[in-house]
Amino acid sequence: MYIEKAKTIVIKIGSSNIVDKRGKLKEKWLNSLAKDLKNLANKKNIVIVSSGAIALGLSYLKINKKKIKLEMSQAIASIGQIHLAEEFQKIFEKNNFRVGQILISPDDTEQRKRALNVRGTFDNLFKLKAIPIVNENDTTATSEIKYGDNDRLAARVAQIIGADTLIILSDVNGLYDKSKNIVKTVNRLDEKIYSLVENSKNSYGSGGILTKLDAAKICMNSGCHMFLANGSKE
Ligand code: GLU
Repeated sequence: MYIEKAKTIVIKIGSSNIVDKRGKLKEKWLNSLAKDLKNLANKKNIVIVSSGAIALGLSYLKINKKKIKLEMSQAIASIGQIHLAEEFQKIFEKNNFRVGQILISPDDTEQRKRALNVRGTFDNLFKLKAIPIVNENDTTATSEIKYGDNDRLAARVAQIIGADTLIILSDVNGLYDKSKNIVKTVNRLDEKIYSLVENSKNSYGSGGILTKLDAAKICMNSGCHMFLANGSKE
């Protein structure tokens, strides 16, 4: 119901959704996402926030993730981001979509003037009927001024552009309670909810359940609904 009513939807894709265990882009999966969006995109503004730059860069360079420092991962992201953007363009154009790339640093969302600029660019991309494909500007941010995970970045983007809905696709089915049942709805982010965080991380992404709850907090403060779903299936 929330998705049907929404005017602007932000979809966040985790590295594990879009890059397989060997570090290759999951073309079939991305193609099925583009197909799923066909019906929605006529009626709504769609934004995609996609991770995967570092994962694709690592596999292209045949480097093992465990050994790299931040400076090196920035260079690796700069190589991987081109591949990521290229794949989006190729697969989305095949499905009759236009795409534009937006790389964002925390300054762009946290400073009002820059945030307004960001919003302006999104608005104009919507006018051009293009889907903005967003990632963090990994190449310039240091650890102190980095989001580091795209969950909070996606939530800030949703807030700035006044999106009604954020869908976070991940490799988890949702938020689990202590008896391993999915918590279907969260209306308040209190200590009880935060106590469910084990902060399990996947192999490529830097987020976990904690950053997803932080994203939910940003959404709640701006009247945006957030869904957490397993994106692994086509
Ligand atoms: N921006 C990073 C990338 O594209 C990923 C951040 C995250 O793990 O969410 O590789």
